Amino acid sequence: MASAKAQQAKAKVPAGLDLSAFPPTTVRRFRRYVCLACIFDLFTKRLKMAPRTAYTAVRGHTPSVAELTGPEPSRPYFDSADKFPHCPHCDASKGKLAGFEVIRLEGSRATTAARKQLFDSLPKAEGAIEIVEEQASRRDLLFQWLDDLGRRFDFDQPDWLMEAARAYLEKREPKTAWSGEFATLSHVRRSHRLEEGWQREGPRLYLSPTLFDEILLIQYLVSRSHRAGGYTFEGRLTLPELLRRLYNRGFLAQHGVTGEDPAEFLQNLVDALDPGSASMKVYYLIDRREFLEKTRAVYARYA
Ligand SMILES: [Zn+2]
Repeated sequence: MASAKAQQAKAKVPAGLDLSAFPPTTVRRFRRYVCLACIFDLFTKRLKMAPRTAYTAVRGHTPSVAELTGPEPSRPYFDSADKFPHCPHCDASKGKLAGFEVIRLEGSRATTAARKQLFDSLPKAEGAIEIVEEQASRRDLLFQWLDDLGRRFDFDQPDWLMEAARAYLEKREPKTAWSGEFATLSHVRRSHRLEEGWQREGPRLYLSPTLFDEILLIQYLVSRSHRAGGYTFEGRLTLPELLRRLYNRGFLAQHGVTGEDPAEFLQNLVDALDPGSASMKVYYLIDRREFLEKTRAVYARYA
């Protein structure tokens, strides 16, 4: 998954789109290339279109969200983390490649005003930015978030446990400046004195038992595919061990989590972490500006 990691790291905000009003955990960015040489060759050589007709067809095309964000790009799309990418299908380089930036925003009510402001500020040129609305399952969104986290962590360094705790707290309480809190923190502890939330005391962060257990679950989920079992503040745990602890502490009863088997328990636990309807609206902003510009330049060479 190295390329996906690099791809995400490289993804940058397209010029003029200000996303600072959105909690970072509700924004996901994608970048994918399309090879215009592959497309024009297909249209003009195999489909025998006149260049002008091909140009019109290419310009009018907006790839689907799945083509731009799905795990396995297929020709003429590809992912590359190289500074000077080449098309893996025809070896075309820079001038014939266009990047698509895709920004996905979660449609929570808290960001309605920010979203309206952003959409109003988008470039007005025709087809420059397309907005696609979809319903996404909350569970899928959570697992994608876990996946992104997992790719950021080095599981050989114990620091990742703290980073996972911070990431979850940022997601849960986006208004708190967690990076500042964690910069001077040495321990995260469960505290039975707290009924909910958290409290800071010197270098220690005390969490209510529920919040602490939620973090254990996140640590388990993010590390389970990288380690045998999962790893948490309480050491290495298999799924039955984790469930037994959560059961004994009343966490499962408190969240109304039941299940026929460990896998079902886990699914229901994940849903309990992020309650609400099963799905939520997401908005994909597909930035076509580079695509339109490069298409025009490539066409000029064919015409
Ligand atoms: Zn190509």
